[in-house]
Amino acid sequence: MRGLLPVAFAVLSLLSAAAAAIAQTPPSKITLIHFNDTDQMSPRDGAGGVAPAMTLIRKLRAENPHTLLTFGGDMFSPSLMSSFDHGAHMVALASTMGIDVAVVGNHEFDFGPEETKARLRESKFPWLGANVTDGGKPLAGIAPSFIRDIGGYRLGFFGVITERSGETTGIGSLAFSNAREAAQREARALRAQGADIVIGLCHLPFGSEMALLRAVPEVDLCLSGDDHIGTILYDRKQLLVEAGSNLQFLAVIDLHVSKQKLGDREVVSWRPEARLLSTAGVAPDVELAGLVAGYNAKLDVSLNVPLGTAVGAFDTRHDLVRRQEAAFGNLLADAMRAATGADVALTNGGGLRADKQYPDGHVFTRRDILSELPFGNVLVELRVTGAQLREALENGVSFVENGAGRFPHVSGIALDYDSRAKRGARIVSLTVNGQALDPAATYTFATNDFVARGGDNYLMLRDAPRLIEEKDGKLLATVLMDHIAAQKTVTARTDGRVTAR
Ligand SMILES: [Zn+2]
Repeated sequence: MRGLLPVAFAVLSLLSAAAAAIAQTPPSKITLIHFNDTDQMSPRDGAGGVAPAMTLIRKLRAENPHTLLTFGGDMFSPSLMSSFDHGAHMVALASTMGIDVAVVGNHEFDFGPEETKARLRESKFPWLGANVTDGGKPLAGIAPSFIRDIGGYRLGFFGVITERSGETTGIGSLAFSNAREAAQREARALRAQGADIVIGLCHLPFGSEMALLRAVPEVDLCLSGDDHIGTILYDRKQLLVEAGSNLQFLAVIDLHVSKQKLGDREVVSWRPEARLLSTAGVAPDVELAGLVAGYNAKLDVSLNVPLGTAVGAFDTRHDLVRRQEAAFGNLLADAMRAATGADVALTNGGGLRADKQYPDGHVFTRRDILSELPFGNVLVELRVTGAQLREALENGVSFVENGAGRFPHVSGIALDYDSRAKRGARIVSLTVNGQALDPAATYTFATNDFVARGGDNYLMLRDAPRLIEEKDGKLLATVLMDHIAAQKTVTARTDGRVTAR
C-alpha cells in the first residue's frame, strides 16, 4: 500500500515535464518545396517552367510562413540559352524565386571551374556541396552544411554531389570526394551542433541515395536530384523525395514537427505529408514570366550570331542525308567524336531536319544549327564491342533503299556496303581508324541519345555501358555550334567514309 504513492507521483511529474516541454517548443508545420534538374525556364508540353511554378510557390508561402524552397542540383546547363551565357539566366531566375538552399549538380560544372565560380558568385542564395573541394580547400561560394532555424526548430542542411561530376569537361583544381563519407561527417556534425532534423540535398544516382540513407541513419530526409524521377519514399524513419525535372512538378513536404522531454533528453519527432504538385495548366507568375520573355527575346537575337563560314556547299536535303555520305553529316559526326574523344561516332541521317542547301561561302548561324537539330537531343558516349558496332552499322544501311532515317553518318569509321545484299549482311569492308574491325575488341562510341536508346532500330545499343549518360550529355546543337565557332571555316567534305556498291 505504502509503495504505490511514489509511483503515482512519478507518473504525474513525468506528464507535467512533457507538458512543460511542449509549452517551450510548440509543434510546428514546416513546409519544404523541392525541385531539381531544371535547366529549361519555359514550359514544355504544357507543364514546367519557372513562371507557373512561381505561382504555386507564392501560394504555398502564403499558406505557411515556415516554408523553405530547396533545389536538388543541375540548372546551369544544357539548355540552348546556356550555350550563350553558361547558365547566368538560370541563376538570376533562381535568385528571384528566392531559393533558400541548393546543392550543386554535375551540370553546374559543364563550362569549366571558372564559369562555375562566376555563377556561384552571382547567386543570391546559398549553395551546398560537402564533397567538392578546390585545390584541397572548400570551393568558394559553397558551404558543406549549415543550420537554418525555422518554426522554432533547427534544420540542418548538407549537400553532396555525384563523384563523377566534371568528367566530361575537365575540372581543373576541383575534386569530388566520396559522397557517402561526406554525408556521414556532415550529418554527425549537424547533430552535434543541435540540429533537430538533418536534411541531405543529394545530387546522386538513386541507388547511391538509397545506400547513403541506409549507411547514414543520422540523415532524416534526402531531397534528391539527378535521376529526373518523381518519387516519394518513406520507411517511417527516412524520407526520400525527387521532383521529376524542369519543374514539371514541385515536391511539397509538410513536416509536422514536435519536441518532447524523455527523462532529461529532448526528443524531436516529425511526421511527413508529401506530394508531387503538377505545374500543368497553372497560370504563370507575372514577374517571372516577364523575366523569361526578356531572356527569350535575347535568345532570339543571339541565334543570328554568325559561327563560321562554309567552304564548299553543304546539303542537308532529306533524301540525301538518308541515303548517302553527306558533308554535313560528316561535320556533325566529327564534332561529336572530337567533343568526347571517342574512337568512333555515329549519328542518324533522320536527325538532320532543315532539308536545306547551304552554298559555298554561307555563314552558319546558331539558328541554322538549331533548325538542323531542333529536338534537344544530347551527346552520349557508350562502350561497344566490335561485333555490336558492326551490327549497328548493318542496321544503319539496312533500309537505305527506302531512305530510312537510320542511315549512319560516321566518324572514325570507313564502311563499304552492298545495298542489294540481304539485310544484316550488307557490309563488305569495315575499318575503325584505319584498322580492320575486331569483333571482340571494345570501342568508345559517341552518338545521340535517341540512337543510344534504340531509336531507329539501333536496339543493340540500348544496354551498352554508358560513359556519358543521357542525363549528363551536352546538347548536340551546342556541340556542333561550338565546333564550327572554334574552326571559323568548315570545309564541305565527303571522303568516302561510307560507300555503296
Ligand atoms: Zn545530374
